[in-house]
Amino acid sequence: MSSTTGVHALVRRTHEERVLSALRSHGALSRGELAKRVGLSRTTLSEITAQLLQRGAIIVADTDAATRAGSGRPAERLALDPESGQFLGVDFGHRRVHVAVADASHDVIAQGVERYEDDISWPERISIAFGLIDRLSRETGVHYGALQAIGIGVPGPYTSARAGVPAVSWKKQLAPDGVDDAFAERFHAPVIVDNNTRLAALAEAITRPDAVDNLLYLRLSDGVGGGLVVAGRLVTGSRGFAGELGHVTADPTGLPCRCGKRGCLETVASVPAILRACREAGGDVDTLDDLALAVAKGDPAVDMVLRSVGSTVGRVLGAAAMTLNPREVVIGGEIVHIAPVLVEQAAATLRYELYSIPSDQPHIVRAAQLRDSDGALGAIAAIFHQSPLLAGYPDPTASSRSLPQQRSAL
Ligand SMILES: [Zn+2]
Repeated sequence: MSSTTGVHALVRRTHEERVLSALRSHGALSRGELAKRVGLSRTTLSEITAQLLQRGAIIVADTDAATRAGSGRPAERLALDPESGQFLGVDFGHRRVHVAVADASHDVIAQGVERYEDDISWPERISIAFGLIDRLSRETGVHYGALQAIGIGVPGPYTSARAGVPAVSWKKQLAPDGVDDAFAERFHAPVIVDNNTRLAALAEAITRPDAVDNLLYLRLSDGVGGGLVVAGRLVTGSRGFAGELGHVTADPTGLPCRCGKRGCLETVASVPAILRACREAGGDVDTLDDLALAVAKGDPAVDMVLRSVGSTVGRVLGAAAMTLNPREVVIGGEIVHIAPVLVEQAAATLRYELYSIPSDQPHIVRAAQLRDSDGALGAIAAIFHQSPLLAGYPDPTASSRSLPQQRSAL
């Protein structure tokens, strides 16, 4: 983005954002009204609105004939297209895919989730995601003919092939090869792919009002993953494995892990592992809903399991926090909202682990507001590409796949 073209693109994008923001807050406006509100010349404003109209981000809503004083040709009034999906975020978990669609003003206008079995192939997962995206269109009226970019989160380590090294995954886990091509071919839009938990960490860091620049993020879900923001940068590591706290050994004699090792944090603190431990302790707990009920009842066996898991999580986070000295440690995932005692115990253990640090201790917060949709929203945040956290990330607009001349709505 250091070239003249890059600077022009940035200026144009800034102008576009101001125009879209004005239409978002004021509703339909004529070009003359828009020019006054955003402080652009009529010529520049015409160029910007022409591009936005061509892209399908805005529409001609009506004319000002009804309210116009005096004579002259009625002026067209422009408005956001409320059903035009501009950014698509897709979060593939181990057992479900979550999709979120945002409009030109970055508002999420549709989202949904579809479940699948853990062991299905990537082509099957992609097919289920396409089905969900089509269903959202039928149910909400959102269309994808003007998509600007697609962000995709996948489980496990991931390094974009465009970053100069091939994408990799765990030895025993199928790499999500072909995901980017499948979406690019289906929607004719640039695609970026990254680890879904890293994208969730990004979403969490971006939504912090004080813009956290040193953040350690752990997500407890069907798997356990992490993301690191260090010195204001989302860190990937040399091959995409940075932040994979789920595969730090927590119990050397523990259960086999999907990665091929034994006793990883994921075998203790993933949602399936926690539910299983609760059942083994005598709790009647098959689902997260059952767990919520047991927590509400104050089931002592379940409470003990959650505290034990919290201690283990706290010890692993303690080692990472001692290494990185983050300002905040955030634990995300639906389960932390259901079982706050887990987070409280992790926080207590972390305080002990970091006791020797005299000040500036990190504090744990839950992934506030961002729940199961965090990965999909992070994927959208990544393609907005406006965060300095993403310095060094491949620019989706620099993809070899250019936007097509003609787009068709689904
Ligand atoms: Zn593992």
